[in-house]
Amino acid sequence: MAKAIHDEIVSVHKMAIKKWGIVGGGIMGMTLAHRLAQLGHSVSLFEAAPNLGGLASPWKMGEVEWDKFYHVILLSDLKTREMLDEIGLKDKVEWVETKTGFYVDGKLYSMSNSVEFLKFPVLNIFDKFRLGLTILVASKIRNWRKLEKIPVTSWLRKWSGKTTLTKIWLPLLRAKLGESYQRTSAVFIWATIQRLYGARKSGLKKEMFGYVPGGYKKIIEAFENKLTEQEIKVKKMCAAKEVRVSANGKPIISFENNSIEEFDEVIVTLPSGIASCLCKGLTEAEIKKLNGIEYLGVICVAVLLNKSISPFYITNITDSSVPFTGVIEMSALVDKKYLAGRTLIYLPKYVNSDDPMFSRSDEDLKSYFVNSFKKMYPDLRDENIEFAGVAKAKHVITVAKLNYSELLPGIKTTIPGVSIINTSHIKDGTLNVNETIKVAESKLEELLQP
Ligand SMILES: Cc1cc2nc3c(=O)[nH]c(=O)nc-3n(C[C@H](O)[C@H](O)[C@H](O)COP(=O)(O)OP(=O)(O)OC[C@H]3O[C@@H](n4cnc5c(N)ncnc54)[C@H](O)[C@@H]3O)c2cc1C
Repeated sequence: MAKAIHDEIVSVHKMAIKKWGIVGGGIMGMTLAHRLAQLGHSVSLFEAAPNLGGLASPWKMGEVEWDKFYHVILLSDLKTREMLDEIGLKDKVEWVETKTGFYVDGKLYSMSNSVEFLKFPVLNIFDKFRLGLTILVASKIRNWRKLEKIPVTSWLRKWSGKTTLTKIWLPLLRAKLGESYQRTSAVFIWATIQRLYGARKSGLKKEMFGYVPGGYKKIIEAFENKLTEQEIKVKKMCAAKEVRVSANGKPIISFENNSIEEFDEVIVTLPSGIASCLCKGLTEAEIKKLNGIEYLGVICVAVLLNKSISPFYITNITDSSVPFTGVIEMSALVDKKYLAGRTLIYLPKYVNSDDPMFSRSDEDLKSYFVNSFKKMYPDLRDENIEFAGVAKAKHVITVAKLNYSELLPGIKTTIPGVSIINTSHIKDGTLNVNETIKVAESKLEELLQP
């Protein structure tokens, strides 16, 4: 947080030091806890899992421990980098130039520079010009609110034309959003292009992605140490069961272990539909708004190999026969010395949070994904695969529907002292840690108002 903003918030609110309870120990809850403690407040942070981190948590894949879901840091992720500085990890970030691939009609193409783009055989030169123009136009737009009123497919058809929409954009939109793309506004593609274009703006128009050796596990550990230094009470394996107002008018959290704690203010950082069930005493209108926020979840198969498969960090897939959205070759970014010499691949698939895929067994999903993966890379043999595991999360990305910002509930609920802040409040960006921190910080002023 910039010092000037910090000082202004402190000077305005210094008289009102309060006791805060925060539900959810992901990046959102941790950032809010950190900033409130910096302002002198007394903060308790409650996390249901044995460790903090939520979607950014690690897991073990054989002898390798790395993020359960893939994470990179971009040069343009200024909020994330500021946070890394505060927790003492800024100088640990390793920046790497990465390459991008495209898998179209059963063939793999490199799309990492202008020459490769011009050679890409799927589009003719006129379509390529329009595709390049689409990206340029999106990168220059500042007023995203106008785009909220336009369906993403209409906007892309206008700038890229029908062929590129059908051959490139629609498969990519389906891969990332499932059938929800039909309800999505042009803000989605604008925000995606802004983020990726931002990554190329610095330096020589090259993609520079970063990571901290040890992955997000190291970041979460350093962040937790910071919270402890700030005397924040971090309580893990402490699942909130209910948030409501006590007889004396103060918000209380009751927990699965049947304990109850009272605060001046409570912030719930869980996905909107879950928050609406947790908080007792919301109005019908609030419940309707919270439940109206549509989430996509992710099913992500991680694979460890004893050989590399490509030079690409991301391979985008426009082939509808492949069950996953893309191939993320983490070890094309992360030095293999941090991965016990292995190649680490993620195969993500984004689906609605109520998709029947979530009820399929891990074994079934694993063989479905891995069989397709082997077809994509025919040189791959069973003996090359040392580990395959399935990670799932039902509430990850909110669908940026038409007029999304107008559909969002405010953060302060009608329950006295109870606020709900989560990543659904990212109105003009994609889901990532940088935007999560930005939302937390941008809501501080409003949270602190009586
Ligand atoms: C597949 C994937 C890829 C990603 N890639 C990137 C990337 O490359 N770069 C990037 O910057 N970001 C990336 N992200 C996004 C990043 O992980 C999120 O922006 C961030 O982790 C969101 O944090 P959060 O705190 O809002 O949510 P969460 O992480 O979901 O945190 C919510 C927390 O609440 C806890 N909780 C739930 N119920 C209760 C309860 N009843 N009581 C107490 N606690 C409870 C949960 O256990 C969890 O820890 C990716 C995410 C995914 C899923």
